[in-house]
Amino acid sequence: MNIRLRLTLLFAVLVASIMLVFSLSVYYLYDQFREQEFNKRLQEKAKTTVRLLEDVSGITESLLHAIDRNNLTAMFREEVTIYDAQNNIVYDSGKEPFRIGSKILQEIREGKAFRKQEGEKEIVGLRYIDKRKEVLVVIAYAVDLYGFSKLERLRNILVTGWVISLFVVLFSGWFFAGDALRPVSEIIAQVKNISARNIHERLTIGREKDELAQLAITFNELLARLEDAFNSQRSFVSHASHELRTPLAIMMGQLGVSLMQERTGEAYRDTIKETIEEVKKMRDLVNGLLELARLNDDSSQFSARPLRVDELLWQAREMLLAHSPDYNIHIEFDQIPEEEEALEIEGDASLLQTAFINLMGNGCKYSEDHRINVTLHIQEQALRICFVDYGVGIAEKDLVHIFEPFYRAEATQAIKGHGVGLALSERIIKLHRGDIRVHSQLGVGTQFIVTFESIH
Ligand code: ADP
Repeated sequence: MNIRLRLTLLFAVLVASIMLVFSLSVYYLYDQFREQEFNKRLQEKAKTTVRLLEDVSGITESLLHAIDRNNLTAMFREEVTIYDAQNNIVYDSGKEPFRIGSKILQEIREGKAFRKQEGEKEIVGLRYIDKRKEVLVVIAYAVDLYGFSKLERLRNILVTGWVISLFVVLFSGWFFAGDALRPVSEIIAQVKNISARNIHERLTIGREKDELAQLAITFNELLARLEDAFNSQRSFVSHASHELRTPLAIMMGQLGVSLMQERTGEAYRDTIKETIEEVKKMRDLVNGLLELARLNDDSSQFSARPLRVDELLWQAREMLLAHSPDYNIHIEFDQIPEEEEALEIEGDASLLQTAFINLMGNGCKYSEDHRINVTLHIQEQALRICFVDYGVGIAEKDLVHIFEPFYRAEATQAIKGHGVGLALSERIIKLHRGDIRVHSQLGVGTQFIVTFESIH
């Protein structure tokens, strides 16, 4: 059952129940009122009859009948029976006297009110003390034809009104629920049309700032995030294939050229050396990409244990120098800690070394003197490492992008690189709940500041 139908039925059931209770109350109260009024009239009738009989002595029964029938207050099938103190019928206006048990007659004489309904007939009984101090019992009954016909009319009006209003409520409920839910149907229709091909499209947000507009806004924000992820995935794949294709093309060219004619052993060796260089570059790139993919996929994979940051920095320096001996890496502390534990962080040694090697290597690679200064600051709750170089620097427009995979600043296009190192370093530092910031000025130099929470 859809929401529209459910809302309509709920609305209809609610209104129908309220109207039913209201109609039943009106009917019941009117019936009570009719009964009271009719009983009052019957009592009046009884009293008038007995007084007339008593006052106008010698009045004949037939005359009394004539008065009654022509009386404006005459009721349908009305009859009056009067009993004396010995339970004998002294007057009866009908063809048949109304028989009543002596016990009830006695109760009426004692002053107890008597009211009874027998089929259509309504009966009242009252006591009357005449001039001779005799206690008479007057019983009067009649059929409230007029009252019942009014009651029936009221019932018909209430039932018809209830049925008509039920239809009106069903119709208007269906209409209003449809109107209220129209933005939802529109959102559903629009969302159905969005796929990977047109992920740039957005839902239209209604003029009102209601919950459904909020839903559309939230969905648009989700689409924007998905689009970003989608685009970066797409550019990642195209960049990766481009970066891999270039060394492959170079190798193919080198190998093809050396096969074209007989070469000396020296020339073959040179070609193999050059090919190995390209293979090494490819290996580094593939390793970097695999690491990035692994860290993006599952961040819980690395095994964290306490590590000394100073040791990691020295090890990174060693590894980098073994690869590029012309680099000049200078490590210093702003203060010597009293306890060694102050230098500890939790993490994975090889991942952190990869990040430090990248940052140190970039500092040297992008400065003419191939020099970088690494300073370790021990703070109360944190360890801060600054990687400072006085190299080419990074333009302001590039600063926001350098942590994106494959992004390379214009100023460094001439220097070899793939643009994966910083993306990987940032991911590693974030995984260790650390923070990386960069300050740089073109032609002046660059400073990367990495901060980790200390574990003590
Ligand atoms: P790669 O160095 O292989 O190009 P990175 O991801 O390590 O890739 O760096 C991305 C880009 O950031 C570099 O191409 C370079 O333009 C810029 N960059 C990073 N470090 C420095 C630095 N210390 N000085 C100047 N530019 C830098």
